[in-house]
Amino acid sequence: MTLLPDRFDNMARVIHAAPIGICVTDAEGRFEMVNPAYCEFYGYREEELLGRPFTMVVPEANRAALQALHERFIAGEDDEDDEELAQEWEVHGKDGELRNILARAARIADADGAVKKVTFVVDITTRKEMEQRLEFLARHDELTGLLNRRAGLALLEEEIARSQRYATPLCVATCDLDHFKRVNDRHGHAAGDAVLREAASRMRSTLRQHDHLVRMGGEEFMVVLPGISRREGWRAMERLRLQLAATPLEQPPLTLTLSAGVTEFSAGESADALMERADQALYRAKREGRTRVLEAELPAMGKAT
Ligand code: GH3
Ligand code: MG
Ligand code: MG
Repeated sequence: MTLLPDRFDNMARVIHAAPIGICVTDAEGRFEMVNPAYCEFYGYREEELLGRPFTMVVPEANRAALQALHERFIAGEDDEDDEELAQEWEVHGKDGELRNILARAARIADADGAVKKVTFVVDITTRKEMEQRLEFLARHDELTGLLNRRAGLALLEEEIARSQRYATPLCVATCDLDHFKRVNDRHGHAAGDAVLREAASRMRSTLRQHDHLVRMGGEEFMVVLPGISRREGWRAMERLRLQLAATPLEQPPLTLTLSAGVTEFSAGESADALMERADQALYRAKREGRTRVLEAELPAMGKAT
C-alpha cells in the first residue's frame, strides 16, 4: 500500500467530513467516489453506488438527457472555458422519494489525465417547496385556494383582450354570500372559514373548466365566463346560486345563498367599467331581497358584437 503524503490524506479526510454530498464520476458517468454525506442524502451505502451509473438517482424520464449532458460536459463541448456547471435537478434516493438538489459540477483530470466530473450536491428541497408555496400564494387565496384579487384582475384584462381580438363574447359576474356575518356571529370565525372553503369548492365544481372563479376578498367572488353571452352568463350564475342553496351544509347546519350581478363585456370599455356594472347589479340584487342573480343594464354605447 502506498502511503499518501499528509496533505492528500488530509484532503481525503476533508471530503469525508464535508457536510455536503460529493461524488466523482468517470467519463462514462459511473460513480468512482462518494462521500458519507452523499450516501446519507440518497440513502445508499457506498458499495451500492460505486461503479454504477450516476443516473440511477435521476428519475427515468430525465436519465438520457442527464447522461448526454454529462458526456458533453466531460468532452467540454458546450463551452471550452466552462469547467463548472450549476444546475437544479429532481432526484430520488433509495426510498424513491423525490427531492430537489442544486448540483455544482467541476471537470477535473486525474494524475493520468483521465477526465472526470466532481459534483457537489446541496439539498434544496425545502427551499423549492417554499418557493412553490410563495408562487402559489402570489396568485391564490390561502383560505380557498381560488385565484386572488390581483391574479383575477390580471386574468380579466387578458380575457378582455382576447374578447376584443376575436370578437367573442365575455361575461363577468360579481357575487356575494348573503348574510355571511350571521354565520360568523352564530358559529364563530373558524366555522365561517370552513363554510367559505366549502362554498368556494362547490362554486368551483359547478362552473365550467374554463370559467374563472376569483376570491375578491371576504365573501365576495368574481366569475369570469369567457365565450358566452349575457343570457347564458345569467343562466350559469343562476345554476351556481341554485346549486349552493339546494344542499344545506351539514356542519354547521345552514343553507348558503348568494346574490350576484352579471354583465357582458362591451367593446372598448375598461375592466373597471365592466366590474362596476356587475357590482351595480349585485347591489340591486341585495336591495331587492338577496338570493338572486340580476343582469346589469347595458351601457348606453350598446353591446359588443
Ligand atoms: P349581505 O347579505 O348584505 O352581503 O350581508 P353580509 O353579512 O354577508 O355582508 P357584510 O359585508 O356586512 O359582511 C360580510 C362578513 O363576512 C363580514 C365578515 O364577518 C365575514 N367575512 C369576510 N371574510 C371572511 C373570512 O375570511 N372568514 C370569515 N370567517 N368571515 C369572513
Ligand atoms: Mg355578504
Ligand atoms: Mg360582502
